[in-house]
Amino acid sequence: MSRPIVAIIGRPNVGKSTLFNALAGDRISIVKDYPGVTRDRIYADVTWLNTQFTMIDTGGIEPDSKDEMLSYMRLQAEIAIDTADVIVFLVDVRQGLVDSDSKVADMLRRSGKPIVLVVNKVDNFEKLMPDVYEFYNLGIGDPMPISASSKLGFGDMLDEVVKHFHSGNTEEAEDERPRIAIVGKPNVGKSSIVNKLLGETRVIVSNIAGTTRDAVDTPIRRNGKDYVLIDTAGLRRKNKIKEELERFSIIRTVTAVERADVVVLVIDATEGVTEQDAKIAGIAHDRGKGMVIAVNKWDLIEKNNKTVKEFTTDIKDVLSFMPYAEIIFISAETGQRMHKLFEVIEVVIQNQNLRISTGVLNEIMMEAIALQQPPSDKGKRLKLYYITQVSVKPPTFVIFVNDKELMHFSYTRYIENKIREAFGFSGTSLKFFIRERK
Ligand code: GDP
Ligand code: GDP
Repeated sequence: MSRPIVAIIGRPNVGKSTLFNALAGDRISIVKDYPGVTRDRIYADVTWLNTQFTMIDTGGIEPDSKDEMLSYMRLQAEIAIDTADVIVFLVDVRQGLVDSDSKVADMLRRSGKPIVLVVNKVDNFEKLMPDVYEFYNLGIGDPMPISASSKLGFGDMLDEVVKHFHSGNTEEAEDERPRIAIVGKPNVGKSSIVNKLLGETRVIVSNIAGTTRDAVDTPIRRNGKDYVLIDTAGLRRKNKIKEELERFSIIRTVTAVERADVVVLVIDATEGVTEQDAKIAGIAHDRGKGMVIAVNKWDLIEKNNKTVKEFTTDIKDVLSFMPYAEIIFISAETGQRMHKLFEVIEVVIQNQNLRISTGVLNEIMMEAIALQQPPSDKGKRLKLYYITQVSVKPPTFVIFVNDKELMHFSYTRYIENKIREAFGFSGTSLKFFIRERK
């Protein structure tokens, strides 16, 4: 299941970072700490009353001038409208209502997206409430007072945010068509791949009415099956602010990955895998998405009988946290292996949905235990009693043991490898939960 996305927008200094940090605690990351992957505060996982969502901070650098302010805010609002399920519009009670707030409110209202208007820096509710009412003039609903620095008003605000998930966001959950995100750095060939795919297939133009996202999603039919392509290549606007654009393209990617079942990470064969590729792959891995690495522009590479192997080794090196990823070498230009791309995607989808019976799983585990004795510590030996698969997308297993502390990461990995030896599960991560049974 993809998590709902909440974007925070607002002028500089209204308290976006403070709110973001307060809600996210220390769970802020663009990806976890994989070697060579840097942290960047763009998105965070938030849990509120059993509901999980991904929060995105659209603010990055500050515009230099008043003139730039409005275009900066418009850009922020645009990206939020494009990518978020719910938008938190943050304003500042101390600065009061500002002209650019009203302009942004107009944009937000027209978008039809659920908006939660949050008034920050209400450090004293009794004293400052009269000033909060002024924001009714924006015409986007009830202003919710909070103090981000004192963590006041969060409960009501989050209730309001979470309420919108259940009302407006159900179409996607009911849509059975697998969603495929084609992601990667600029110029690696994403648009070319999408165009090639669409050129060869019948595009179905019927869009579900009322979905706010069909502007960026493209339904496609391949070998008699329906899929949805999630676009990330679209962001090529007249933007002066380069850092902002970079940030927004990362936000696009994060949200596309979040919503996808299978992620196709496109790599430029002439460049090889980069840090940014590793970041994107890290997000997909965290979220348990299906993973295909498409090495594009393969036509530009001089090859001998070792080239594929060398490329594969390189990729597996940099993306060592996802040895399961499918790798395919393609050319959008010449069409080489483009037909195979969907075959690989289909295999990954199958693997993401594969269920193994408990009987078979336990046979594999018992055999594995017989081959390699479980570890022991201070005279106590690990015992594995039972394994069962509890869910799919990604396939998730629970192993019952005598003592969790003894279940070393490497032994879990060993069991995982045995399961993969039997069933492959290529292109998908596998999740394991270890439970104690006394
Ligand atoms: P951003 O630019 O929107 O990310 O704003 P920041 O989070 O950096 O906050 C701007 C300033 O407002 C900082 O000095 C914060 O300490 C301050 N601030 C944020 N939230 C509150 C609040 O609830 N009350 C008060 N009094 N100050 C706040
Ligand atoms: P995007 O920014 O990732 O969407 O990349 P584009 O699809 O716009 O491609 C960037 C450039 O690479 C364009 O000039 C394409 O013509 C070129 N390109 C894309 N795929 C291939 C390929 O397979 N081989 C070659 N030689 N060029 C390609």
